[in-house]
Amino acid sequence: MRSIRRLPFALPLAIALCTPALAHDHSHDHDHDKEAEHGHSHGAHEHGVSRLDAVLEGKTLELSLMGPAHNFVGFEHAPETDADRASIAKAQAQLKDGAALFGLPAAAGCKLEDTDIDVDHGADKEAAHDHAHEHEDDHDHRDYSAEYRFSCQDPKALSAIDVGVFKAFPQTTEIRFQLAMPGAQSGGSLTPEDAVISLR
Ligand SMILES: [Zn+2]
Repeated sequence: MRSIRRLPFALPLAIALCTPALAHDHSHDHDHDKEAEHGHSHGAHEHGVSRLDAVLEGKTLELSLMGPAHNFVGFEHAPETDADRASIAKAQAQLKDGAALFGLPAAAGCKLEDTDIDVDHGADKEAAHDHAHEHEDDHDHRDYSAEYRFSCQDPKALSAIDVGVFKAFPQTTEIRFQLAMPGAQSGGSLTPEDAVISLR
């Protein structure tokens, strides 16, 4: 939960740092905007650690999974070989199968209604010869994200979410989750040995 706690401190700092530049030199606006955005979306980039947000509202359960590309395919450089491309395609197919990634009690009657996978693994090396050594740059990190919307006939029967992400993507060692549901909010950390979120 370290990354989430850091945000309230990081944002005022970013604003404080931006303000003098905005007042005196408008040409840097764009750079500062990018830094602020970076803090939001990539602040938690830690190989092995993914994040899961779960929101239950009425009959709708929304799950958002985010993590370094490393956790899903084992590398973050742009694809160079057929094996790289195959790994990325396999990860995308696994991410689309939300019903396999998230085990929900049958009694709740949940159906996966919508999936939104955001996997950008960079330009293929065959189309980008100028940057043949880019993959050696340790700072070339990427994140994957995926959102799932389930509709549940009997949300009261939703006692737990059995998170299958560790099995599908064994390079994931920890998932930090936040859960919001009517009258309750909780969070914690999942591991391959303890991968069930209790909704009770
Ligand atoms: Zn990385």
